[in-house]
Amino acid sequence: MSLRLRASLAVEIHAELCRAYPEEGCGVLVGRDLGGAREVERAIPFENRREDSRHNRYLIAPEQFLAAEKEARAAGLDVVGFFHSHPDHPARPSAFDLENAWPFYSYLIVSVERGRAADSRSWRLAEDRSAFEPETLEILPEADPLARVPSPARGGVDGR
Ligand SMILES: [Zn+2]
Repeated sequence: MSLRLRASLAVEIHAELCRAYPEEGCGVLVGRDLGGAREVERAIPFENRREDSRHNRYLIAPEQFLAAEKEARAAGLDVVGFFHSHPDHPARPSAFDLENAWPFYSYLIVSVERGRAADSRSWRLAEDRSAFEPETLEILPEADPLARVPSPARGGVDGR
């Protein structure tokens, strides 16, 4: 099982979660489920709807989720997971995360330490729902080959 996303999308998600710091930020991952692997095409950030404990809890309201599902379907995609941050905590699911997890979906957790994205990990609920299992997180280089052409401004080809 793996979750794939483009580097630029990872940057976008990190920026969104850093903006939410010191509270938890959250949203959904939209893309394609290819059996074992999933490709994330876009991320839809949500306002954390928790009224309390926003530093270590998040809530996605049903209407937020339904709107995201609608947006995904319209683009020929699906909601394949959720992302949220752990401000100043490791990128491991909490007991709260386990209690509130749904089967099937990928749960991307980003630890944000002192306002900066530190570590990202993706998880899926085990079949018996007793625990989360880690899944491989693949950050892909950009599809556009021009994005990978070495630029003199960034040090050039040979560094001279
Ligand atoms: Zn969490």
